[in-house]
Amino acid sequence: MRLTIRTNLAARILMTCAENPDRVLKTAEVAELCNCSTNHAAHVVQRLQADGYVSTVRGRSGGFSLALAADKVSIGAVFRLFEADIPFAECFDEVTNTCPLSKTCRLKRYIERALDAFYHELDMVTLRDLVQGNCGLSALLTLRPEVPNSCSR
Ligand code: SF4
Repeated sequence: MRLTIRTNLAARILMTCAENPDRVLKTAEVAELCNCSTNHAAHVVQRLQADGYVSTVRGRSGGFSLALAADKVSIGAVFRLFEADIPFAECFDEVTNTCPLSKTCRLKRYIERALDAFYHELDMVTLRDLVQGNCGLSALLTLRPEVPNSCSR
């Protein structure tokens, strides 16, 4: 199993937002912190904005910031949002499926159960769980000159 790059990027970008709660972030600076192209980051930010996770400010000093409190951002929901349109196995998409086994295959049911368990675990995690007290992450993602001593947001 492998997450799509955009799902992983969404998590990185949201963590960057949460580590910089008082700033309007530029896509380019976030892309640098997240080690991706500005273009790729912009697409992910657009999707996050469309679903209400970040709000954007237009103009020269524009950018984006977290639109919700970090404890209201479910990592499971974010993963579902970005993974939803990609079928995990070929048979998960009835329109394009060509698997000859699909009428009798039992594996699909077990994969579905495994995915349910996977998302269930992530549903119990919030963005706040990822950043709160994580001084190492703060040191990597905080754009302020100094990381706060407490690291306890
Ligand atoms: S082998 Fe089973 S789980 Fe895999 S694509 Fe075919 S029907 Fe789906």
